[in-house]
Amino acid sequence: MGNRILIVGGGLAGTIIANGLCRQLGTQLRKGDISITMLGTSDKHLYQPGLLYVPFGKIRETELFRDQRKVLDKRVPYHIDPATNIDVDAKKVTTQSGKVHEYDYLVIATGSRLMLQNIPGMEEGAHWFYDLDGARKMRDALNEFDGGKIIVNVNVPHKCPVAPLEITFMLYDYLASKGVMDKTEITYTYPIGRLHALEPLAEWAKPAMDQNGIKYETFFNTKEVDPAAKTITSEEGETLDYDLLVTIPPHNGAEVITDSGLGDGGWVPTDRNKLLREGSSDVFVCGDTTNIPISKAGSTAHFEADTIVDNLVSLMTEGRWARDYDGKVFCFVETGMSTGTYVWFNYTTPPNPGAPSQMIHWFKLAYNRLYWLSARGLL
Ligand SMILES: Cc1cc2nc3c(=O)[nH]c(=O)nc-3n(C[C@H](O)[C@H](O)[C@H](O)COP(=O)(O)OP(=O)(O)OC[C@H]3O[C@@H](n4cnc5c(N)ncnc54)[C@H](O)[C@@H]3O)c2cc1C
Repeated sequence: MGNRILIVGGGLAGTIIANGLCRQLGTQLRKGDISITMLGTSDKHLYQPGLLYVPFGKIRETELFRDQRKVLDKRVPYHIDPATNIDVDAKKVTTQSGKVHEYDYLVIATGSRLMLQNIPGMEEGAHWFYDLDGARKMRDALNEFDGGKIIVNVNVPHKCPVAPLEITFMLYDYLASKGVMDKTEITYTYPIGRLHALEPLAEWAKPAMDQNGIKYETFFNTKEVDPAAKTITSEEGETLDYDLLVTIPPHNGAEVITDSGLGDGGWVPTDRNKLLREGSSDVFVCGDTTNIPISKAGSTAHFEADTIVDNLVSLMTEGRWARDYDGKVFCFVETGMSTGTYVWFNYTTPPNPGAPSQMIHWFKLAYNRLYWLSARGLL
């Protein structure tokens, strides 16, 4: 096997992999025995979990961004030139500028994207916090909100499994401290017959919602939004009125994945232990873009990235496989504006959320700042 590693996607997964490889392959890089190249879409690196705090005015936008060139090890050439075609048979990636990159090992880390357009009326009628523009508009809407009906509407698939619960509990606390919760009704909708895909989280969330008078509708698969009438309707035939609609939009993987015929919906069929594209021995897949039925989360991407780094280094230096990914995920969960809990789980151990505390909330806030060290591989 040769020595050129190409990473497509300079988000969380791609960056952690590139920096991890540089840390372990310093000698080979210095001698020019290997090369690591990255293709991305932007000169900025966005810390997406920070978007959760934007609607409440609890984070400065400057904290969300760093220059990608500064987060990425300087030994990795970074091209802001998105991949437009990935040919895994010819081992070539073509970019928007028409350049062709050949590789010996490929890492696909192109993440996921919001698909608001999949639901008629959603873009016009809803608020969301899953991108910066949406989060800013939601902040303005919350500033003006003076009581009424709020719907937190969850669509699947989406990244960050716990964000819908977090935003619901944070909204409750925020509106209570603003003094308008007594004239506000919050309703949470979820597409399956419980409050969360992960059963222990659903069981944990139900009493927490009941205690605060938060209503819920399960089996609510969103069909359409009527922005003029301010209603949202499900495929199951339920129509709810709203004054403020907060949606967790459905997601797809990157366009380049579907355009290259690598996976329906942009999700790449991936071996859940090896993190290799199914049918390939030289194409690793990391983060949101895999089709593995586990949470699409930064921590998933991080634990996967660590596994891929170990395996790539072992394959390139010793010709052997190092270890399998065990499905590990760890998520802090905000349970209000000043308390939090956490969950960890893997393929065999289900999540088990503990009692919320102020200290865990502070840990989450601390991690938000430590992320930049973590992405550089310093933590
Ligand atoms: C509001 C919010 C809150 C969240 N909270 C948490 C949390 O508390 N904990 C947690 O673990 N996770 C959380 N997440 C999820 C986490 O941010 C993602 O799961 C994580 O970023 C996935 O990493 P990734 O590298 O797969 O994708 P990304 O970080 O999205 O990176 C993908 C990169 O690929 C690039 N790309 C796309 N197409 C191309 C192309 N054709 N060519 C080149 N590059 C391309 C994109 O521009 C992007 O930079 C949250 C997300 C949001 C939105």
